[in-house]
Amino acid sequence: MLERGQVANSWRAERWDSLRLLTPNWQSRLPGLRYEGPDPDGYMTMGEVTEFIERFAAASRAPVRTGANVTSVRRTGDGYHVTTDRGEIRCRAVVIASGACNQPAVPQFAAAVPACVEQLTPFDYRDPAKLPDGGVLVVGASATGVQLAAELQRSGRPVTLSVGEHVRLPRTYRGRDVLWWMDASGVWDQRYDEIDDLTRARRLPSPQLIGTPERVTLDLNVLASMGVELVGRWAAVRDGRALFSGGLRNMFSLADLKMRRLLDTFDEWARGQGRDAEVRPPERFEPTRVPESNRLQLDLGSGEIRAVVWATGFRPDYRWLGVPALDAKGQLCHQGGVAGHPGLYALGLPVLRRRKSTFICGIEDDARAVIDHLTRYLAVRQ
Ligand SMILES: Cc1cc2nc3c(=O)[nH]c(=O)nc-3n(C[C@H](O)[C@H](O)[C@H](O)COP(=O)(O)OP(=O)(O)OC[C@H]3O[C@@H](n4cnc5c(N)ncnc54)[C@H](O)[C@@H]3O)c2cc1C
Repeated sequence: MLERGQVANSWRAERWDSLRLLTPNWQSRLPGLRYEGPDPDGYMTMGEVTEFIERFAAASRAPVRTGANVTSVRRTGDGYHVTTDRGEIRCRAVVIASGACNQPAVPQFAAAVPACVEQLTPFDYRDPAKLPDGGVLVVGASATGVQLAAELQRSGRPVTLSVGEHVRLPRTYRGRDVLWWMDASGVWDQRYDEIDDLTRARRLPSPQLIGTPERVTLDLNVLASMGVELVGRWAAVRDGRALFSGGLRNMFSLADLKMRRLLDTFDEWARGQGRDAEVRPPERFEPTRVPESNRLQLDLGSGEIRAVVWATGFRPDYRWLGVPALDAKGQLCHQGGVAGHPGLYALGLPVLRRRKSTFICGIEDDARAVIDHLTRYLAVRQ
């Protein structure tokens, strides 16, 4: 196992200070390792996640070579030639487990943002003190965007949040964590070959969730009540002005509708399983409030906005992969983790084999299936 940094590198080096997992502690499970602390319904800090993964690496005696950056993987006659900054390796099979979130995805028009506005990604952001005083435009209203918008607004900076397609979820539903419902009702176990529009499912943004000791919901209504100004999707920069799409009302109704449908699924599951009495009665939440007027333009040179935070998602980095295994969008082509090249596999990508594939609790089932294929591949070729 080659790791360019240390074990749990992404949790150590690529996350902001206040981040906690959005999955509850009981859900952080790896083969043979479960959370056994006093707060199963709490959410781990980054230090705790790092410690948890280190504990797993030690318990599983994973043969990790840290500080070994893979700079190229090429196909040879009978396998692969791997170059690292600590030497060369020849092997018959490669499992790409380099993560789905290696770099922030920032739109090209970021280059047209005037120089007087500082630009940050979640990889640069650590805490509000990192930003200049004054207004902040946070772009993207998924898990990262809503969390950073709330933290920055609380720091006293006026925040404008540019909202694109998003997934609204309450933190708790009928007295249980919403991720308990995803888990128990089988939504998270839905397999990739049972999903109608897999491409879409793989691109779905992360849900608007935050892990806090108080188990609070952090949706757009909460942010608006805190004073965050909501604007539409940032579409372009023209003459130093940010141009936002209209249509907030439609986007909000769509997210509300999808949330209601998901909650209906949970209710049906509880009824069908005879578990209604274990949980509180069904709840329905206030629709997302549409601002009375929302700006369609913002003059980036006026001094109102001093910083832009791009919370526009993440993408993998395969610049080192010298095998033609990527599609036109730069995503790895694979069928449930089995790439189209003999002996090439992947783990940890969105909906790789199940909806839970990119979460810590999702790796075990996926790894079993992928490694089963890999061992059969190696056995046949012996
Ligand atoms: C902001 C954020 C919040 C998240 N919150 C949660 C959460 O609450 N709960 C949850 O379950 N999941 C969460 N996730 C998803 C999380 O990324 C996965 O659960 C988990 O980290 C995936 O593990 P992984 O090993 O597949 O990928 P990663 O953790 O990304 O690990 C990949 C490793 O590969 C190394 N690497 C990459 N390229 C190379 C190379 N060329 N050579 C050598 N090494 C390389 C990296 O250094 C890294 O250590 C979150 C993700 C993000 C971005």
